[in-house]
Amino acid sequence: MASIQFAKVTKSFDKQEVIKDLDLKIEDGKFTVLVGPSGCGKTTLLRMIAGIDPQTSGQVLINGKDVTRIPPGQRGVAMVFQNYAIYPTMSVRENIEFGLKNNKVPNEERTRLVESISATVGLGNYLDRKPSTLSGGQRQRVALARAMVKKPSVFLMDEPLSNLDAKLRAQMRIELIELHKKLGTTFVYVTHDQVEAMSMADTIVLMNQGVIQQEAPPDVIYRQPNNLFAAQFIGVPPMNVGDLGVDGVRFGFRPEGAVLSHEPGDFHYSVQGMIATREMLGSETLYQVKSDKHAFMIKCIEDRFSVDQEVYVGVDAAKLFFFGANEQRIHES
Ligand code: ATP
Repeated sequence: MASIQFAKVTKSFDKQEVIKDLDLKIEDGKFTVLVGPSGCGKTTLLRMIAGIDPQTSGQVLINGKDVTRIPPGQRGVAMVFQNYAIYPTMSVRENIEFGLKNNKVPNEERTRLVESISATVGLGNYLDRKPSTLSGGQRQRVALARAMVKKPSVFLMDEPLSNLDAKLRAQMRIELIELHKKLGTTFVYVTHDQVEAMSMADTIVLMNQGVIQQEAPPDVIYRQPNNLFAAQFIGVPPMNVGDLGVDGVRFGFRPEGAVLSHEPGDFHYSVQGMIATREMLGSETLYQVKSDKHAFMIKCIEDRFSVDQEVYVGVDAAKLFFFGANEQRIHES
């Protein structure tokens, strides 16, 4: 088990600073998800923990110890990549035990480890198969098993599910949550997908342009976003934002935080508009409502409005957010 800390870390490529004076503590045994748009520096952080690409300045500490001079192989971390990095000509068993053989782990111990780990990830019946005969999800499990045999104290995962289809991704998310529970090891997981972050993380570290925007459990980021960026990155569809027309202050509300009706009703914020689009999603319907100034997305459990209908969008005070000119959320006093 291991905690990780970044202390005043910067990272530059060709004079371009992509990580800016970053401080972060990743707790021991927790499932931490680094999330943010493409290019915000997530993979760069992971590579610094692994020791593949060291920081330009500042310190990276594992269990309180500065690991700057410790090579990747000796940091007790294992990395699982998007493209699996499994050997196509080797069987599942050979893939899993490859690292063990290299480390001259005795035969019996090797067999015992491979069998227990393959059972943990549900590959017990596939040990003699070649990767080409496995599904995407099974290949992903081989990659996980390969990392697990090293008994790392930290698992680093870089978008490991992004090559899988939506259904399999959903299934693997659950499997990763269960695996984390079983192992009790520190997981650091990189994704640009806020759904993965919301569903798996104990703690989300939300980044933009090399700077942490918010570090909090999923429900806290959802309910109390620090700023406009966090408010619009977490949640699907993103938070609606409108202009108050005063001093750059903007207001926001979530698509599921508004009420649609034929009457104005008694709401803190209410606006008249027209249904522009309707998407029936099964258990809920998503409407786009256009008023004279804004276009809002509204999520409803009921499917009782149709395109071109006049409606009112109403939002209770408790569901409204406000953001100042600096894009920080204005906290209710
Ligand atoms: P993605 O989700 O697209 O993988 P990311 O958040 O993981 O993005 P990084 O890969 O960490 O982003 O890259 C952060 C920034 O650093 C980007 O602007 C990228 O172009 C730049 N960068 C990363 N590696 C290098 C490199 N070896 N040389 C030059 N610039 C690099």
